[in-house]
Amino acid sequence: MKLLFDLHTHTMASGHAYSTLQENIAAAARAGLEAYGFSDHTSGLPGAPHNIWFDNFKVIPRQIEGLRILRGAEVNVLDFEGHYDLEESIAKKLDYLIASLHSHTYVSGTRQQNTQALLKAMESPYIKIIGHPDDDRYPVDTDQLARAAAEMGVLLELNNSSLKPGCTRINGPANARQMLLDCMRHGTRVVVNTDSHISYDVGRFAEAIRLLEEVRFPQELLANLDLARLDWITRPRG
Ligand SMILES: [Zn+2]
Ligand SMILES: [Zn+2]
Repeated sequence: MKLLFDLHTHTMASGHAYSTLQENIAAAARAGLEAYGFSDHTSGLPGAPHNIWFDNFKVIPRQIEGLRILRGAEVNVLDFEGHYDLEESIAKKLDYLIASLHSHTYVSGTRQQNTQALLKAMESPYIKIIGHPDDDRYPVDTDQLARAAAEMGVLLELNNSSLKPGCTRINGPANARQMLLDCMRHGTRVVVNTDSHISYDVGRFAEAIRLLEEVRFPQELLANLDLARLDWITRPRG
């Protein structure tokens, strides 16, 4: 299985990642990717860049080392109403937003409340991907999430970092597996990302590929198999 892009990656700008944009792109090229997206954390997390950092992406070329370059951000969902920490004037200039629950910016509620937080976040047309909905620190109902994502044209993320031993997320592999089964039932589109915080992980999807093969995930729902499917993520929603 050949995955052509990685859209959830962090650079040093995130404050707890260790490679530059240039190093990540070089790694993406070495891994044989055809597109690369960076998605640094937004302002709620300690050490994350000020909004002005996201506001100047116009200086970054659209094509580097033969790769198509996409400009994203991983926003923090803040509450059960799905508010997140990036203003619309900046969000609308980016190619995509990934919405995620993180410990510094979100206090977990019940499974239903956490699910509602993500469902509400999906109502924002800038949210294209729900990041790592696979963590029992913030349990979510992936069946409900997959059904709504399919209806709303949002992709759920199969996060390769969640599948690795030593990941701080809880029960990532089992939850990711359940999420894929729910996506298969509802016809929900999935994107595989590494969530790399250092260039050595960019474009390395071994654990995710193993899981996709194990559940026989249908090719027509998997974004990364076709460069044209970047449209699923970059085109305006709603
Ligand atoms: Zn995250
Ligand atoms: Zn991330």
